[in-house]
Amino acid sequence: MKKPLIIISFIIGLYMVIPTLLVKVFSIGVTKKGGISNAVALTFDDGPNPLFTPQLLDLLGEHQIKATFFVVGAKAEKYPEILKRINEEGHEIGVHHYKHISNWLLGPVAYQRNLSESINAIHNITGKKPLYYRPPWGHFNIFSLFFRRNLKIIMWSHISQDWKVHKGEMELYDKLKQVDAAGDIILLHDCGETFGADREAPAFMLSALERFIIERKAKGVQFMTVTSLIEPKNT
Ligand SMILES: [Zn+2]
Repeated sequence: MKKPLIIISFIIGLYMVIPTLLVKVFSIGVTKKGGISNAVALTFDDGPNPLFTPQLLDLLGEHQIKATFFVVGAKAEKYPEILKRINEEGHEIGVHHYKHISNWLLGPVAYQRNLSESINAIHNITGKKPLYYRPPWGHFNIFSLFFRRNLKIIMWSHISQDWKVHKGEMELYDKLKQVDAAGDIILLHDCGETFGADREAPAFMLSALERFIIERKAKGVQFMTVTSLIEPKNT
């Protein structure tokens, strides 16, 4: 390999591959699970969405479940009433960048701007500063792993490709049934507008989620916010 290629590979590795590997393989600096048995935290990324987020809030309200939403700052500003509703109904709100851009494509300045703009958007609308951060696609660079304005990074222990329509309601439900409910943090999406997702996918997610909630509640599983799951003494 020629020298410039070696240098470029080294820089790319140091900037994004190594931080992402540290998280994915060794869980360095991130939380993927809580410590309460027979409990789960539902988390929803990529919203708010004017069609699906209100339906999701109705579903959660019907079953008296509090969840955690990782919102895109620009969408929060576009739909402030939905963000207010999320907050007023007792759910938690975390940062999922101001625009849905991977950290692999952001330099340090653009990354910091994305974070600040998201924090400000959420704070301006709800009056609350977010506590948690989940980067789009779970991608990290060296800055997003270590310089994140005191935000705690929340990843997930269960993911089910709910952003794709081809998974359908029953296949998604089958995936959700694999959750062992021992402090799992479940990742779902209430918006299908991001790159690689299907616009109508949240409709199937909502149906599968309702089945999952009914089945698990019947078995005594508790549904809670990320804070209640990972810091039960503080809630
Ligand atoms: Zn996302």
